[in-house]
Amino acid sequence: MNEFDTPTFRLAVSQFDQAAEAMHLDHNLRERLKQPQRSLVVSIPVRMDDDHVEVFTGYRVQHDSSRGPSKGGVRYHPNVNLGEVAALAMWMTWKCAVAGLPYGGAKGGVAVAPKQLSHAELQRLTRRYAAEIFPLIGPDKDVPAPDVGTDAQVMAWMMDTYSQQVGYAVPGVVTGKPLSIGGSLGREEATGRGVVYVTLEALQHLQLSIDRATVVVQGFGNVGMHTALIMEQEGARVVAVSDVTGGLYNEKGLNIRELLERYKTKGQTLKDTKMGDWITNEELLRLPCTVLVPAALSEQITVHNAAAIRCRILAEGANGPTTLEADRILEDNGVFIIPDILANSGGVIVSYFEWVQDLQRFFWNEADIRNRLHDIITSAFHQTKLFATEKRVSMRMAALMNGIDKVAQAHLQRGLYP
Ligand code: GLU
Repeated sequence: MNEFDTPTFRLAVSQFDQAAEAMHLDHNLRERLKQPQRSLVVSIPVRMDDDHVEVFTGYRVQHDSSRGPSKGGVRYHPNVNLGEVAALAMWMTWKCAVAGLPYGGAKGGVAVAPKQLSHAELQRLTRRYAAEIFPLIGPDKDVPAPDVGTDAQVMAWMMDTYSQQVGYAVPGVVTGKPLSIGGSLGREEATGRGVVYVTLEALQHLQLSIDRATVVVQGFGNVGMHTALIMEQEGARVVAVSDVTGGLYNEKGLNIRELLERYKTKGQTLKDTKMGDWITNEELLRLPCTVLVPAALSEQITVHNAAAIRCRILAEGANGPTTLEADRILEDNGVFIIPDILANSGGVIVSYFEWVQDLQRFFWNEADIRNRLHDIITSAFHQTKLFATEKRVSMRMAALMNGIDKVAQAHLQRGLYP
């Protein structure tokens, strides 16, 4: 198991161990589910614009496929490594099971800084990566999607590369595609919308109102942006947002629509907008607020800052933002945690809708997507809440135990091959 041994993988396994212990999971299964089913490491030689060839390393890890094809995003980030991808793949398994989707979990990634590549280099990298992992993926096998550093354009290149190999269009091989080639309405905003839907349930549970809630969002990528915007549309006051360079804080509330217009369309940096005071990401996490949404990378809330976190609800838009030690501190301080595998599952839920639409060649309207997303994610929230109350465990443990149990049942019923 050494090849996976990184802090993020250790976090995923420790969470799993805790849940497995609490639910008295079958010992043999425990050994199996601690590690991925299948991992592939690939070399990706890319001809750069200046004609020299650079070799990148890519990964695709399938943690489990007992309940259906494995599912999960592809991450482009300089720090991507096998252990991180394996951890993220494991979380996808539990996430899909918690939402009741007929999928296992997977994740992919390339160690690259995508913004440092030209458009043409990014395309060549993506196509070669897709070609290298070709034997593993397919609509019935494993279905990639966007994650940190990838988007609809990257998915379009992956879909095209796969389709070129087999000789016909296969939209169902990836999700998060542009609409023109079988993407789904509502997919891009789906993770953020899901974060908002479960936060609304949590507020109601705590008898707090959205109109009086203040929201802080760490990360201004796909998840953070849409979360902030939809929170604002729902009536919350978004007081701070950040990206890697730092955060903007405005006690009166930021105008997110205008901020997005300047950031995305006009290309201004967050700092340049001058729409609030400039603070560090560390200061942002410590702001007093009703809802804190970490929507950047993993392990942001640690033993070093957990005691200083002053939110009522922690809605984990990112995967693995909270370490185990931090978890305990937050729990002791009465923070209501909506764990990642529940809070950010809106993305994969709408990915599932996209895949179903692709397979059926029959497309739904936006209201269908929103209603079905709302049904699935709020019922997953309430199931988790009920389980947490009945078993007297945290929301995170409840979600994990619930997800692991569904996977365990599939394994036990299918039996061990051969
Ligand atoms: N990357 C997203 C996640 O971590 C979405 C995965 C998907 O849609 O398959 O959940």
